[in-house]
Amino acid sequence: MTKRVLVTGGAGFLGSHLCERLINDGCEVICVDNYFTGRKENIEHLIDNPKFELIRHDITFPLYVEVDQIYNLACPASPVHYRHDPVKTTKTSVIGAINMLGLAKRVNARILQASTSEVYGDPIVHPQSEDYWGNVNPVGVRSCYDEGKRCAETLFFDYQRQHGLNIKVARIFNTYGPRMHPNDGRVVSNFVVQAIQNQNITIFGDGMQTRSFCYVDDLIEGFIRLMNSDPSFAGPVNLGNPCEFTMIDLAKKVIDLTSSSSQLIFLPLPQDDPRQRRPNIDLAKELLKWEPMIDIEDGLKKTIDYFKG
Ligand code: NAD
Ligand code: UDP
Ligand code: UDP
Repeated sequence: MTKRVLVTGGAGFLGSHLCERLINDGCEVICVDNYFTGRKENIEHLIDNPKFELIRHDITFPLYVEVDQIYNLACPASPVHYRHDPVKTTKTSVIGAINMLGLAKRVNARILQASTSEVYGDPIVHPQSEDYWGNVNPVGVRSCYDEGKRCAETLFFDYQRQHGLNIKVARIFNTYGPRMHPNDGRVVSNFVVQAIQNQNITIFGDGMQTRSFCYVDDLIEGFIRLMNSDPSFAGPVNLGNPCEFTMIDLAKKVIDLTSSSSQLIFLPLPQDDPRQRRPNIDLAKELLKWEPMIDIEDGLKKTIDYFKG
């Protein structure tokens, strides 16, 4: 029987790749988005497909549809966007999760939450494994996102315990690729756009902070495996690429791959910016038989081609 799948935030960066993958796998897809950071052009190529349905909707309001699976991705994801309207960011994470969990409960659907490595905050334990509880500032400028996502995880596990829901929680580490918004302020899109235009590359702080970057196709494969994993496995599970770089390393790689004449400039470090981040992915390897396949050079090349186009 054809599965009917709801993707919230489906017109965003990850959501659009997920909708495409699900359609290719033979599912019927309902894509819900309020277009806060998503764009119709991300899913333009799917709109005429009879298996694809698009609904403009804000998940902080109830939604009544009939589906077998829900991927809950709706939430601004870049620091620039989630800090723009922080109250709305918390509402989207928390009230949005309650609505989607209420929906999953009513129709008995399996539901996956797009959580984040930000639940670990500025981590003292390195690399981060799922049993680490994190180091999060509850009252800083990033808290709307971090605490919103942490509360969403709590809600998922309480709906599981209290109502027997079949839940899945993915903690996503920095993911990049085609269809990132050119102005969304995340580091890969910023550096690539700056390098292509031979503009200064903006390094925040001393550039010695680290991140570990996962190419979008690898991440989507992890989502699909997690959603279809044994019902006894809810997570939380880290999904990311353990390859760790400083922001200076990343800038140099992007400059090399674009043969750019850009120079590095140093700007103030945003408040509470994590110093280091790298996933321990042993759990995903063991239980999902998943690990990233695409290395940073190949992934950056595909991303650069997209932004050049
Ligand atoms: P994105 O901004 O491209 O996508 C988010 C989508 O959600 C957008 O299309 C936006 O319009 C939509 N949206 C926002 N608020 C909404 C609301 N109230 N109702 C309906 N739609 C709403 O970002 P992304 O990188 O694709 O992130 C997708 C999800 O993955 C987010 O939940 C994010 O927190 C999570 N995540 C992403 C990364 C990453 O590196 N890309 C890392 C960790 C977690
Ligand atoms: N909800 C929804 N779609 C549904 C079912 C519920 O959006 O198909 C929302 C509804 O607005 C509710 C929330 O999900 O506020 C939580 O639902 P739940 O049944 O858990 O709680 P209650 O209805 O008792 O508040
Ligand atoms: N960053 C940077 N220059 C930029 C944008 C970001 O040096 O133009 C840094 C940022 O301070 C952070 C890292 O790159 O240390 C990753 O930032 P991003 O916003 O992509 O993701 P997050 O901080 O949520 O991991």
